[in-house]
Amino acid sequence: MTMASSSTFTSRDGRRIELPAGVELELEHDPAPRPRSRRGPSAYDLAKIAFFLVGFPKNGFGSIDVTSRCNLRCRHCYYFARPEDELPNELSEDQWVARLEEIKRSLPAWEFPFFNCSWVGGDPLIRKSVIERCKPYFRYNTIVTNGTIPLPDWPDINWYVSIDGDAEMHEHIRDKDRNYRKNGRPGIYARIKENVAANKHLGITIAYCITRENVRCIEEVVRDWHEVGARHITFDFFTPIDGLGDEMWLDYHERDAVIDKLIALRRIYGDFFVIPERVFNLMRSDKCRDVTDNCLLFERSFALDASGRQKGKCVMGEAADCDRCGCVVPYYLRSLTDRPSILQDLGRDIARASRDLFSVVNY
Ligand code: SF4
Ligand code: SF4
Repeated sequence: MTMASSSTFTSRDGRRIELPAGVELELEHDPAPRPRSRRGPSAYDLAKIAFFLVGFPKNGFGSIDVTSRCNLRCRHCYYFARPEDELPNELSEDQWVARLEEIKRSLPAWEFPFFNCSWVGGDPLIRKSVIERCKPYFRYNTIVTNGTIPLPDWPDINWYVSIDGDAEMHEHIRDKDRNYRKNGRPGIYARIKENVAANKHLGITIAYCITRENVRCIEEVVRDWHEVGARHITFDFFTPIDGLGDEMWLDYHERDAVIDKLIALRRIYGDFFVIPERVFNLMRSDKCRDVTDNCLLFERSFALDASGRQKGKCVMGEAADCDRCGCVVPYYLRSLTDRPSILQDLGRDIARASRDLFSVVNY
C-alpha cells in the first residue's frame, strides 16, 4: 500500500509519482490502473497542433441552452439566478432546426463551422428530441446534465454529469428541499451513481464545480467516481454571478492551494483528469486575469439562449463576474492556443520520442 501524503511514492502500476511541495492529501489514493483507451496523440494534442497551424476558429465552440426548465434548483446555478419569469421562451423543435438552417445560410463556414456544440440549459435531457434532431448539424456534441434523468444510449455524445460533493454535500447543494429524499428514497447522488454505472460505455465525465461549501469533498469524489467507472473528471471553480451572492467563491489565495491539491491528484490519477496540469497552472492568481481579460469564450464562441438569441458574454450570461471567473473553459482554450507553450510542449514531446527511440535501438 502506498501513501499519497508522502511527497514521492510509487503507485501500484509502478509509476514514481512526485507530489507538488507542501501538498498534504487527507485520503489514501492508489487507483487501480486502467487499460489505456487510445494509442497515439490525444485529442488535446491534436487540437493544439491544429490551432497552432490555423488559429482558433471563430464559433468553432459554443453552447445552446436547449431548455429553460430543470428538475432541480441547485444553490450555485447561474441559470436560475434571475427571476424565473424572465427566462427566455423555448424554441420548438422545428424552430431550432430553422434557426440552425438560418445560421448555415447566413454565415460562411469559416465564421460558423458547426464544429462543437455543448447542449445545456436547464437540464438538456428534458428536451432529448430537440437534441436528437439537431446534433447532426455539429461535428462534435457535448451534453452537460445533472445525471438524474436516464441517459439515452448516444455513444456519439461527450457526456458530462455534474457532481458537487460527497453524497451528503451533493444533496445539500442540489436538493435543498429534499424532494428526492421523500419517503426514505435514497436521493440524487445514488440515482446518478446507478445512471453512470449503467452507462460506462458512454465514457462519462464527472464535472465538479468547486465552491467554498464543497471544497473539502474533492479527494473523496475523485476516488469514488474513479471506482464507479466514470471515464474522466473535470473541475471548475464557482464564478460569482449577480443574484447569487459571493459566499461560495474561493478567493485567489485559497484557489491556489486547491490547485496544488488538484495537481497532486492529477499526477496520481493521470488521464482520469481531463484537465492537463498546464491548464490548472493558468488558473493561478498570478495568471488568471490575463486569461479572463482576453477570454476566448467571450471573443470567439457562440452561446445561444433557449429562444435562439446570442447570450451576453458566454454561456453563464451577462451577470457572470469575468474578473473572478472559475470556468475552466477559457483557461483550457488559452492552453490550446498559447504558441510559446505549445512549442515548448512539442519540443519536450520530440525530446521524449527521441529518447524512447534511442533506448529501443540500443536495447
Ligand atoms: S441541474 Fe444544472 S441547470 Fe438545473 S438547477 Fe442545477 S445547475 Fe441549474
Ligand atoms: S465569465 Fe468567464 S467564461 Fe464567461 S466571458 Fe467572462 S471570463 Fe469568459
